[in-house]
Amino acid sequence: MSCARPIPKVAVESLTGCAGELLIILENLEKLLPFIRLSRFTFAQSTNEVGPVDITFVEGSVSQPHDLEKLKKIRANSRWLVAVGNCAVWGCVQKGGCSACSPENMLKSVYGEQSNIEVMRAAPPREYVKVDVELSGCPINATQFLSVTASLLKDHLPYITHKPVCLECKLRENPCVLIEQNLPCLGPVTAAGCGALCPSLGAACYGCWGPCESPQMDAMATILAEKGFSIADILVRLKSFGAPDKLFERIESLLPRDPSKEGNLYV
Ligand code: SF4
Ligand code: SF4
Repeated sequence: MSCARPIPKVAVESLTGCAGELLIILENLEKLLPFIRLSRFTFAQSTNEVGPVDITFVEGSVSQPHDLEKLKKIRANSRWLVAVGNCAVWGCVQKGGCSACSPENMLKSVYGEQSNIEVMRAAPPREYVKVDVELSGCPINATQFLSVTASLLKDHLPYITHKPVCLECKLRENPCVLIEQNLPCLGPVTAAGCGALCPSLGAACYGCWGPCESPQMDAMATILAEKGFSIADILVRLKSFGAPDKLFERIESLLPRDPSKEGNLYV
């Protein structure tokens, strides 16, 4: 009698997103294929199976009713559900990029009045189903993705750092573009994982990994205001990658609102 474990089945699925995560997974697939059976990945293969799998990686936010239906089926068929990419962890730009616009008006502005596409307020999968692991990025980092997958294939929940980008930036001994060049770098409130990519090239972090653990948004806004940026611009920048609204309640309570504008934008 053989006691060999069956080869783990893996699926890769997509909701509303740009397919950036799918490309990273595709680029790294040959490193995984010796250890898994790829049951479903419609982006990459024409023959796909249905039914239960050990791990599903899902990218994208829930932004349309059919996303939600699909997500519930994915959850029911997956032992481990792994949200990959900022869309699936925070909702990304479709949630935060225009916090003052309604989904219906955004739809009309792109597709016109006659569109029959149904839209919902964009939200990450965790708002609807249990998610076992969340791996952010825009897109995800390939090394983090392989490390998370290796842990799950050994039946361990992976460790994912939520320290700020500044930590990686200092480890690379970069000059600080916030202090030395007055650029609006969001590294202090953004989760690490990219290796401080933008500051390493002399650019400000714009927060694409989503918030770090216990982000000090008030302090970040204060520093940027002291450097001459308007609070309205600071809030747009801080919110554009889907960070939860509750992180901004205090800053927003200090701002006068303009009741004539959709979403009650600041005056
Ligand atoms: S450049 Fe940005 S990420 Fe780097 S230390 Fe300064 S604030 Fe932090
Ligand atoms: S430095 Fe910031 S904006 Fe640039 S890749 Fe990293 S998290 Fe994204």
